[in-house]
Amino acid sequence: MEIEPKTIIAGIFLVLLWAGEGLLPFYPEFPKGMRQRVGHDARNLALGAGNALLMAVLFGAVFVAVEVWAEDRSVGLLRILDAPGWLTLGLAILFFDLWMYLWHRANHRIPFLWRFHRMHHSDPAMDVSTGLRFHPGEMVLSSMARLAVLPLLGMSLWHLAIYEALLLPVILFHHSNLRIPRWMDHGLLAVIVTPAMHRVHHSRWQPETDSNYGSILPWWDMIFRSFRLREDARTIQLGLEGFDEDRWQTLGGMLRTPLGGPGSDPADETRNGETIGDREKV
Ligand SMILES: [Zn+2]
Ligand SMILES: [Zn+2]
Repeated sequence: MEIEPKTIIAGIFLVLLWAGEGLLPFYPEFPKGMRQRVGHDARNLALGAGNALLMAVLFGAVFVAVEVWAEDRSVGLLRILDAPGWLTLGLAILFFDLWMYLWHRANHRIPFLWRFHRMHHSDPAMDVSTGLRFHPGEMVLSSMARLAVLPLLGMSLWHLAIYEALLLPVILFHHSNLRIPRWMDHGLLAVIVTPAMHRVHHSRWQPETDSNYGSILPWWDMIFRSFRLREDARTIQLGLEGFDEDRWQTLGGMLRTPLGGPGSDPADETRNGETIGDREKV
């Protein structure tokens, strides 16, 4: 099997950021040291690798078939516009990043989608490996939605490959526990979602969780007024209420996250009325 360029790029960033956050951590999240950190990261990595394999098997051929169908019929906005290649690529990246923002926002707003997406948020120790921690159910739903979005936008698989080659390093970077100077973070914030911005999204305080949905570009949050920063990011409480116990952090526990925990039982609504109940109703 051929290794895609995006996988090589992601691998290099993963190793560099992992080494960097070990030397210069922002949060000292692993009180039991290296053993605990390696276990945590290996579980998240296993999920990421499993998802990549599952998506290739389930959707690889389907995406090609949809692309051929749309290309033959010149379907989609970008094909109709028929602009020069460089402009089409720029617009594809811009439009698809907007789609990612809307999809992420829907994952927080629609209770069914949140059941899967909350597994990404239940990590109490966010680091570079959290960038790969997504529930396979969320990946399947996202791929199904993309089967409609790509032909609607008129985006080719080549455009998508370029977008993902940009997305993966940015996702790994903004989840990393690397301590970088504030001026550098805020400078980069003009063009990409940075750790200072995405840490706020992983806060367990809901007004912060429900902000900063951006993937590559921070501009959508600024335009749609969901942008939020915290003066002292070290005081952010990471993770998700109700999923702190070790049993939710094993591979099996993570995979069961959509089924169990607060919100799965109507009685929880009253027990956790203030936090979880409100989330399910948003
Ligand atoms: Zn989220
Ligand atoms: Zn995240």
